[in-house]
This record gives sequence, structure tokens and C-alpha cells, in this order.
Amino acid sequence: MAERFTGKCAIVTGAARGIGLAIARRLAEEGAAVVLADLRQQAAEHAAAQLAGQALGVACDVADEQQVEACVAAALERFGSLDVVVNNAGRMTFNRLAEFTQQDWLEVLKVDLVGAALFTRQAFRHMGTAGGAIVNVASIHALQTSQEAAPYAAAKAGMLSLTRTTSIEGKHRGIRANAVLPGAIDTPMLWDNPNIRSGAETIDPTDVGAPADIAAAVAFLASDEARFITGTTLVVDGGRLAML
Ligand code: NAD
Repeated sequence: MAERFTGKCAIVTGAARGIGLAIARRLAEEGAAVVLADLRQQAAEHAAAQLAGQALGVACDVADEQQVEACVAAALERFGSLDVVVNNAGRMTFNRLAEFTQQDWLEVLKVDLVGAALFTRQAFRHMGTAGGAIVNVASIHALQTSQEAAPYAAAKAGMLSLTRTTSIEGKHRGIRANAVLPGAIDTPMLWDNPNIRSGAETIDPTDVGAPADIAAAVAFLASDEARFITGTTLVVDGGRLAML
């Protein structure tokens, strides 16, 4: 495997399982020192222990600004730099638009959108003179969506806008920002989706990807191979959105 991240430190949020864990594993395999941030300390540490290289599990709710600051401080203290941030933590809730409360909306927005903004703020403060890379894990729900997922779809669409602004304001700092839009990926989040359980949303088995498929795209965008790519989005869905 290529060693595109040797000497670099990456923070991956929501890294205890699923896509986040696959991203952390891929970056570690390519030489990065990886901070795995997730809600529970034990789960984050357990995930970090599965990685081959240098890895640190940190309890961090991405919606809590103090915890985000503490996570970045822990990364800097342990590994000495911050070069890559992958905003992957996300949650999805389901209800009819007529039933979602303000609280419901805020619960999703603060994790799926504001959490990414809080880590972006820290990246601007702490990435070095060489700059760095931010990859936001959005969703195809940013482009097309299904019933009863309004806050999630809105948050993921907002993440694309955040990506553009980050690329504009990061340009003079050498900070690149891009978004990956996964389609259906084989993780607990996919199979917990009530639209899929009920059959309201059907997925052909050939349209289900693996977490490693997202990790490969994230690793490319985070690497210096993508040095001239910023402010853009990459759909990784096996072609699902292309089909009429
Ligand atoms: P998952 O539910 O399997 O894992 C999500 C991880 O994020 C969990 O470990 C969870 O503890 C963590 N997390 C949740 N809230 C958090 C918070 N506030 N702070 C820190 N960590 C938190 O989900 P996944 O399928 O691996 O999804 C990862 C990302 O990919 C999400 O942003 C999701 O929206 C996106 N995505 C997933 C799919 C899919 O089909 N699985 C499709 C499109 C986009």
C-alpha cells in the first residue's frame, strides 16, 4: 500500500465503527498517526487498538465545542501536528416533516453540520504553515433524498456549502476541503434505516458499497495527489444516482 501520510496526523470523527473506522484504518495503513474521535472513550480506544500504526482513541461529541477543542489539543500533544481532518461523524433520524420538532432539527444539524464546522475552525487555527486537508463525509442525500429524512438531507446539503466556503477561505493557507458523498454503504446506519426496513426505499444489492470504498476516496482527497482539488464533491455510490 502507498504511504501517502507518513509523518502526518489525521483526526477522523465517528471513527469507532462503520465508515469512520475504515477511513482511520486506511490512513493508518498509509502511515498516518490517527486520532479516532467518537462519543464513547471505550469504543474509541477499542477501535484505535485495531489499527496497525500509531493511533489514539478520544471521547469527543463533535457537537460540543469544548470537546472538539480538547480532541485537537490531544492530537497535537500526542502527535505534534494536525494535517488531515475527516468530518465523518453523523446521525440520521426519521419522521414526517409535520412531526419534526425544533429540538429534532437541532439534534441532527449540530452533529452533521455544526460538528464539521467546529472541527474546521480548529483546523484553521492549528494546521501548520504547510496547510492541510479536510474531507467532509456528506451523503447522496445532499443531492436527492427520500421521505422522512429532512434534517439529515438538509444538514448534508449544508455540508457541501461548508466545503465550498472552507476551500475559499483555506486557499491562502494551503488548506484544501472536499466532500465525499457516499451512496448505500454496508454499515449499521444503512440497515437501521426504517425506509429500507419497510421497503419504502429499495436498494439493489449491487448498489451497496463497502466502508473501504469510501475510505479509498477519502484517502485520495486527503493526500497530496489531490493537491489541485479543492471545493469539490465526489459521489461514491456505485452509479446509483446515475440511473433513471
Ligand atoms: P454509523 O452509524 O455506523 O457510525 C457513525 C459513528 O459516528 C458511530 O461510531 C457513532 O458513535 C459516531 N457518532 C455519532 N454521533 C457522534 C457525535 N456527536 N460525535 C462523535 N461521534 C459521533 O454510520 P456510518 O454508516 O459509518 O456513517 C458515517 C458517515 O457516513 C455519516 O456521516 C453518515 O451520514 C455518512 N453516510 C453513510 C451512508 C451509509 O449508507 N452507511 C451513506 C451516506 C452517508
